[in-house]
Amino acid sequence: MTFTVSYYCPHCETMVDVDRDEYLADKAVTPYPFEGWTYAAPDEDFEDAEGVRFVCGDDAPNLTWRANPWTAGDDAASTVGSDADGEEGTADASADADTAALGCGEPFYLSFVKFADGEELDPRQPSEYVHIGDGNSPATPSGPRGPSFR
Ligand SMILES: [Zn+2]
Repeated sequence: MTFTVSYYCPHCETMVDVDRDEYLADKAVTPYPFEGWTYAAPDEDFEDAEGVRFVCGDDAPNLTWRANPWTAGDDAASTVGSDADGEEGTADASADADTAALGCGEPFYLSFVKFADGEELDPRQPSEYVHIGDGNSPATPSGPRGPSFR
């Protein structure tokens, strides 16, 4: 059973369709790798990895890149909207849009859900959770906690 799943580049929002063999729980698509995750190339057996490293627009046998329908729609709308000055080769422009290479060439990372000791790991948690509510502490975000503060 093969599934086709669509993601989009966090840099330029180009869509990519990925064929994959089995269900995998996706965690996030990010422009940077998660610390502690290992990433495979899209044409490797990424089912055994913890994520996939894409390069935007880089062809692989099981990938299909396509323009993001929303951003492409914006482009088309703006082209149509500027018909007052539309003599400047609109036919060429649309031909270019069809044949232009997709993608921005930037890497981005699809991370799968990863478990350790039965708990889902989330590399974003440690930095995003801020400890608030210790009533005795003044707001010193990164002060040294030495004993000699008086
Ligand atoms: Zn991109």
